[in-house]
Amino acid sequence: MSALDPGPAGASHDLVDVDIYDDGTFPEFGNNQAPGAAAVRAAARGTGPIPAEGLATRRQLRALNLSPGGHEPVARLRCRGGRRWAWLYRLDLARPKRIPTLAQERALDRAMAARQTCTQCGRRYHHVLPTSLKTCLECHDGTPADPASYIAPPAQHLLAA
Ligand SMILES: [Zn+2]
Repeated sequence: MSALDPGPAGASHDLVDVDIYDDGTFPEFGNNQAPGAAAVRAAARGTGPIPAEGLATRRQLRALNLSPGGHEPVARLRCRGGRRWAWLYRLDLARPKRIPTLAQERALDRAMAARQTCTQCGRRYHHVLPTSLKTCLECHDGTPADPASYIAPPAQHLLAA
């Protein structure tokens, strides 16, 4: 066997782990080698405070209710003996994940209801009414509305409780 022949083991090794991005400038860390790895891991488990600095995977950021906030990964994490890897993001550049509050969702629903409800007959349509009219076409010019296109207005409470 010549010295240039890598042999069956070497040949199969050449077929995996081909990484066109690996130009040697991108930092790569093994498990628990990344800056702040232990603290990030504890925080993602909920057993520690969120560190101000360090590197975290996307999954870890999610566990901390954070997102990369638009910044590119700065390093990568080697997993499973180098066969898998994950992007690492900077914690100090991460942003809070946006979760609409119940109040915000209610406000959005109210706004939508206002645009779909006729101000004259009170029917709520499944489509948005013409903003110049604020009424349905039936109230505007008598064009009959398809009963399947709206929800009848709720019964009015006539009794003052
Ligand atoms: Zn109407």
